[in-house]
Amino acid sequence: MVYTLTTVSIYDQFGIRAIINAKGSSTRVSGGFLAPDVTAAMTEAGQYCFDMAELQARASTVIAEVTGAEAGCVTSGAAAGLLLGTAACVAGLDPGKMGRLPDTRGMKNEVIMVRSQRNFYDHAVRATGVKIVEVGLPDRYAGAGVRDAEAWEIAEAITPNTAAIFYVANGNARPPLPEVINVARKAAVPVLVDAAAQLPPVSNLKRFINEGADLVAFSGGKAIGGPQGSGILSGKHDLIMSAILQNLDLDIDWDLWTPPPFFIDKARLKGLPQHGIGRTCKVGKETIIGLLVALRQFAGETDTARQARFRATTNKLHAATGSLRHATVTVQDGTTPRMVLTVQPSAPATAREICLALQTGNPPIQADPSRVDQGQIGFNPTCLRPEDPERIARRLRELLG
Ligand SMILES: *Cc1c(COP(=O)(O)O)cnc(C)c1O
Repeated sequence: MVYTLTTVSIYDQFGIRAIINAKGSSTRVSGGFLAPDVTAAMTEAGQYCFDMAELQARASTVIAEVTGAEAGCVTSGAAAGLLLGTAACVAGLDPGKMGRLPDTRGMKNEVIMVRSQRNFYDHAVRATGVKIVEVGLPDRYAGAGVRDAEAWEIAEAITPNTAAIFYVANGNARPPLPEVINVARKAAVPVLVDAAAQLPPVSNLKRFINEGADLVAFSGGKAIGGPQGSGILSGKHDLIMSAILQNLDLDIDWDLWTPPPFFIDKARLKGLPQHGIGRTCKVGKETIIGLLVALRQFAGETDTARQARFRATTNKLHAATGSLRHATVTVQDGTTPRMVLTVQPSAPATAREICLALQTGNPPIQADPSRVDQGQIGFNPTCLRPEDPERIARRLRELLG
């Protein structure tokens, strides 16, 4: 089997070619694919209508169970979670402030961030109208240096205008999150964690909340295997309530507004907020249901089982590729065991040229080019379909003999 019926019919209708995704769940290659249960749940959800506040309230209960947080909501991606989370830290439960964002005059409007953690996704934080206050110098970069930002530097940057500390979780992130939480707690400033791509291990669903983070954003379209445009924001009840109020359609009559009080407590509000800044990142019902099904499946599989699944795919690819005249192929172990192809100097093309040939050939194959400058091409197994290893191997043999 080369193409499933579905692929053929999409191709016929729109002239769109499916690619082989050996890059992994990156957004530009459309994430991964949905498990049949997730697709079925989304199709079913599309056949009914729901009250969106009730749907998100149920989602909150499921997310709370899985993450150990007080509450949560489904977002249209981790980046959307960062925007909503920041907006929640700035506006709290004040409907007036919610309505004025991104004009943050007269509000706490500074977000502290370690300089070495600045990245392209922090646009989502800045979009709310806050100013990022950078802390620390990543002197590890110099080679001789060993230091990065330290907790005392974050403490020193906190002012009465500090809305939040934004932390981007990663194996190399400095200072360690518990040290950041410690200074944040002393100053009663919330900590928002970007944990978009920190899964697996499954234990990370709970880890940052356990360490004391106030809000944690995960991507739903990466390892969780949810819809590509989905994510989770989990955390403290009041902050999630603020986030969801700034996300939902609130064009409602106050007396006719009956959200579940455990999720949105009307008694805490002096009035009904207008459509908020997060209305821009609307989440559909199919997305909410699909994400919840995927999340339960992800949390229900052990890391060992998942790793074994990925290793089997990688081994299959490695075996099918065999030995190539102009490159060596090895299996690199880790959370996601992957195949690494190292192009020999004798090869007719550089690693970058081979990536381009893979990408523009038939079938189009997207591999991981992050180490092409070192002559290496990575093949990530997480988004490969059962027939893909054989198809990739055939193309590699064509290109590299
Ligand atoms: C992928 C990623 C995001 C964005 O996640 P989406 O779900 O695509 O919005 C944000 N931050 C980091 C560190 C990421 O890796």
